[in-house]
Amino acid sequence: MIIEERPEKNQGASWWSDRSKKLLADQKNSWPLLKENYQNLENVIEREFEFDGFTVRVQSNQARIISSSADVRAEAIRSRKCFLCRENFPLEQNGLSYNKQVFILANPYPIFPEHLTISKSKHIPQTIIGNFAEFLEISRILGKHYTVFYNGPKCGSSAPDHMHFQAGTKNLIPVEFEFDKMVQRLSRAVVSNGKIEARFFEDHLRYFITLESRNKGELLFAFKTFINSFKKISVPHDEPLLNIISSYQEDIWRVIIFPRGKHRPDQYSLEGSKQLLISPAAVDMGGLFITPRKEDFEKITKDDIVNIYKQVTVTKEYFEYLRKKIGEIFI
Ligand SMILES: [Zn+2]
Repeated sequence: MIIEERPEKNQGASWWSDRSKKLLADQKNSWPLLKENYQNLENVIEREFEFDGFTVRVQSNQARIISSSADVRAEAIRSRKCFLCRENFPLEQNGLSYNKQVFILANPYPIFPEHLTISKSKHIPQTIIGNFAEFLEISRILGKHYTVFYNGPKCGSSAPDHMHFQAGTKNLIPVEFEFDKMVQRLSRAVVSNGKIEARFFEDHLRYFITLESRNKGELLFAFKTFINSFKKISVPHDEPLLNIISSYQEDIWRVIIFPRGKHRPDQYSLEGSKQLLISPAAVDMGGLFITPRKEDFEKITKDDIVNIYKQVTVTKEYFEYLRKKIGEIFI
């Protein structure tokens, strides 16, 4: 059932965030699968690995096996019923309709104590190109309680045929709660024109770029510059591989972009004891590794984390190119 509620004129900017929180609470009571998966999440265990000035956490989460091992090849996608299309929703699933074009839904396979899927009402392919403005808008309206993230169609999304974002409890991804600490260690300072700030992280095992601004137009322009530059050095016709995490606080967006070299590390397809079923997406790039198999959770080492990041991040040459192109905005 899609709930057609919207804020009254005098209701504040946090209405959608509060209302989504209530949706999730209601769904935990009315949808047995959801209730069970959230109860299991309460007993989830995590390990923490200390690096030089930042941490990476590993979460043991068996419910995520469906997502992590999803067969995202075109023929497999075509032959399954799309779980983000309204006609295929489980009977118990309710959603909020935002602008008639987007549904806010409870995610039944949570990583966070509160985990939402934000899905287009129409079945259209996953892409950030043309959808970044909506991504910013969703991260603003949900910003009070949630951080919003995006996984590219070939980079962690388990429904590459149906446009969607996800949102999770704010400040639970290491890159969010350690942001200030990580910024202090940056070897090169921020670039800024007074309206937008860009930072380039290169000393944290994986490369990433952050854009911060209270001005949506500035963010759109910077992102366009980034994506057009990244396209030039990526496989033609495909969206460049990337994940994005965005949060909104005190009227300011913070967008964290992870340009990627590849989706799954070699360990994913090794056999026997050498295999690690880890399929990195936005959350993993943000410093929270999800391991759906207990054996992987137990055996993963610090060296594995270093090695996996090294395989799936972009090369230093590509990162320098992106830095140069984005930097040109500020000249
Ligand atoms: Zn669909």
